[in-house]
Amino acid sequence: MFNEKAQMMKLEDIRELQEERLLKMVKYAYDNVPMYKKRFKDKGITPSDITKLEDAHKIPFTVKDDLRDHYPYGILAVPRKEVVRFHASSGTTGTPTVVSYTRKDMEVWGDLMARTYNAAGTDPGDIVQNAYGYGLFTGGLGFHQGAEVLGCAVLPTSTGNTKKQIKMMYDFQTDVLACTPSYAIYLSEATKKFGYDPREDFNLKVGMFGAEPWSDEARESIQESFGLKAQDVYGMSELYGPGVAVECPEQNGLHIWSDQFLVETINPETGEVLPEGEKGELVFTMLTREAMPLLRYRTKDIAVVNYEECECGRYHPRIMRIKGRSDDMLIVGGVNVFPSQIEAALLETEGIGEHYQIIVDRDVLDKLFVKVEVDKEYYESDEYDEEKLLKEASENLTAVLNIRARLKLLEPGTLPRTVGKAKRVIDLREEHDRIEEP
Ligand code: ADP
Ligand code: ZN
Repeated sequence: MFNEKAQMMKLEDIRELQEERLLKMVKYAYDNVPMYKKRFKDKGITPSDITKLEDAHKIPFTVKDDLRDHYPYGILAVPRKEVVRFHASSGTTGTPTVVSYTRKDMEVWGDLMARTYNAAGTDPGDIVQNAYGYGLFTGGLGFHQGAEVLGCAVLPTSTGNTKKQIKMMYDFQTDVLACTPSYAIYLSEATKKFGYDPREDFNLKVGMFGAEPWSDEARESIQESFGLKAQDVYGMSELYGPGVAVECPEQNGLHIWSDQFLVETINPETGEVLPEGEKGELVFTMLTREAMPLLRYRTKDIAVVNYEECECGRYHPRIMRIKGRSDDMLIVGGVNVFPSQIEAALLETEGIGEHYQIIVDRDVLDKLFVKVEVDKEYYESDEYDEEKLLKEASENLTAVLNIRARLKLLEPGTLPRTVGKAKRVIDLREEHDRIEEP
């Protein structure tokens, strides 16, 4: 096992190490980042007020805008010349958020990613095909470095060129596929199109799928079609990148590497810390980051954290799957809806495919409009009954959402495919002039 000592830490050892590191980190951030010194002053506290783990809630929050305010070099606690890497978030709006790493940060990240691969079922010597985008996005280079640290052979295919991607996966008999879950779904379809049998012709054993929310139903479908274990990986550029949390083979929550990350769950409206086990916004403090320390960073990701020991023997607390970001949540006719709930409801219906699009509008009768492709095999079979499928899927959708949604079935292959994160939601309330009416 890679870095068994860190992977298998006992809970009390984790807590002890967290406390020791937190106190040091608070002082480090206060002494080296003017923003933190000012925040502490404004709150009337100094690092000496943080004497134990339970004092963490006194520390001021950090938010994404704090990073934007520090464009271009980001929040820096070291001289610029000690930075060996920059990345920037894929965020589509506004100023990009830049994150930075010292050599030591790169080592920590490499170790975290190597553990992440390993805990998910990847072994040294495996061939890892890395179809995350290489570049400013942390996915490509993060998954690359971690695989090398673990001792795997990396095929840096990056995104796109699906035909070549599939040929390499076949020729090299790739063991581990790393990409977004939406691209994995697309790949499984494409293999069939190019005449392969995804279960028989490939040698995939593990999928390292992350960077976006996906449902258990999507997992089932990817596992079924490739005959691999589809593992969920969580992270974000502000917290190194991928490698913050990962599923073990139990597939019952994502272990947060808590010797490096202190997690809290807060009420996103009031900022108040919630008791263990309650659903709320995840807040992370990086415990050893050199270049860009972030204290109590608000992720906007909503989830439940489970602190019980896992069947796998690990004590690192688990995120019980991310439902989505608080800013992804749609409020439709006063009802809160996560796209992942819609996905789950759709995939529950036999005969429905994995590709869908949600269109929200303000002033039409059907406030929520969902377009979904029919499963290809079902569509081509003699049993295909459009009316029946539409009725069943609509009922499942209404049961989950508690609001009326209009559903439209599409021919397989009609919705746009993506090589990175999928764009599932089109909110016409914001983009009225830019996008054609459905
Ligand atoms: P950007 O905000 O530009 O997309 P990142 O690429 O760093 O920046 O994306 C981080 C976000 O991606 C997380 O905050 C989370 O919302 C989402 N994310 C990452 N991994 C997962 C995952 N496994 N499940 C659900 N959401 C995820
Ligand atoms: Zn586990």
